Amino acid sequence: MKLLEGKVVIITGASRGIGKGIAEVFAQHGANIAFTYSSSAESALALENQLNATGIKAKGYQSDASDFNQAQAFVDAVLAEFGTVDVLINNAGITKDNLLMRMSEEDFDKVIEVNLKSVFNMTKAIQKTMLKNRAGSIINMSSVVGVKGNAGQTNYAASKAGVIGFTKSVALELGSRNIRCNAIAPGFIETEMTAKLNEDVVQGWRDSIPLKRGGTTEDVANACLFFASDMSAYVTGQVLNVDGGMLT
Ligand code: NAP
Repeated sequence: MKLLEGKVVIITGASRGIGKGIAEVFAQHGANIAFTYSSSAESALALENQLNATGIKAKGYQSDASDFNQAQAFVDAVLAEFGTVDVLINNAGITKDNLLMRMSEEDFDKVIEVNLKSVFNMTKAIQKTMLKNRAGSIINMSSVVGVKGNAGQTNYAASKAGVIGFTKSVALELGSRNIRCNAIAPGFIETEMTAKLNEDVVQGWRDSIPLKRGGTTEDVANACLFFASDMSAYVTGQVLNVDGGMLT
């Protein structure tokens, strides 16, 4: 059964990793997809072609989600091209890890701008369309680190905890208009990036997780599919940990 047939979905940061995994699963479910990237033009074009080949409509846009005006211009372009937007997935994110002692002001600000302000920018830009439609699902990518904290990631943890507060507030503000807003808190998700890490270290992480494996991008995409579709029609303001039981 296709759960998103004909729906228009925006995914920020889908040129690789989790965003790409979401785009692939959503295309299988019949969604039309507008996605952004920061600088990976080649991977973005490859994904655009890959998705279009499945019979849905897909387009990649270079757009910095942390820039208020660029986010607005991107949403305007998507509305012109796709007509409407049903689902927004705020997935773009970065890390700039360091102990607080060594963390620069610049690295703190940058992570907050890309991970948290971007969610404000994109939600502001999409709000009018969803209000008009009296329908919409907004999904924000947090992290277990935003729930629990993590040494060496004060900037990242603060940004991801902020995403949770923002999510719950939007759910309260827009619930009466049938606009839902939920967050996903992934644990350790194995991507191209983690494949480059030392195998012994990665195995140690896997062993410490109750389900004894890292998550896949598909695991996160399936949780997004639930929040994007009518399967979660009565669910809003929630944070779903997709972490193999890590925080249990
Ligand atoms: P990733 O592989 O590093 O991919 C990040 C994506 O975001 C890329 O497509 C990148 O584009 C894009 N991006 C970066 N800055 C951007 C900006 N300013 N504007 C628009 N797009 C931007 O990351 P990931 O591991 O898939 O993570 C995706 C999300 O899940 C992030 O929010 C992350 O914090 C969260 N998360 C990940 C994990 C994990 O284990 N991987 C765990 C918990 C939470 P370019 O390719 O052009 O740079």
